[in-house]
Amino acid sequence: MQSNRNIKDAHLRLKLAWAWVQEEWPKRYPSDLTPFLTEVYRSPELQRAYYAQGREKVAIVNSLRRAVALAPISEVENRSIITKSKPGQSKHQKTPSEAIDIWFAKGKTLVDDKRLWKQLVDLIHEFDPGIKWGGNFQAVDKPHFEI
Ligand SMILES: [Zn+2]
Repeated sequence: MQSNRNIKDAHLRLKLAWAWVQEEWPKRYPSDLTPFLTEVYRSPELQRAYYAQGREKVAIVNSLRRAVALAPISEVENRSIITKSKPGQSKHQKTPSEAIDIWFAKGKTLVDDKRLWKQLVDLIHEFDPGIKWGGNFQAVDKPHFEI
């Protein structure tokens, strides 16, 4: 498996923080969308495919994506850079993973909502203030949390 959303592959601090979120979120925000994990560990091959996006020709990007069983992207999608980390640099590639990505979704559509992100970040920081949120990074990465 090239990429996964299994919290078992995350560092203990992230595991505990995620368990806290799962326990507290439904109690505090029962009528809000529920956060879910989109990625935990990421292989160097997958990071290479992500890093190529927006930097290489779409044919090259899609060939890298095919190698890790990802669906091809379009020319338009290939206009956006989606990660600043080269293979080996992302905290998602540590064993155990030192980063997790969390999203909200309505059906299959991801929901990027300022209020939900704030609730989530505050909840995580209430449990472990040392976890860094990608929303505060120079290259903003809202779903990303790392130690
Ligand atoms: Zn991430």
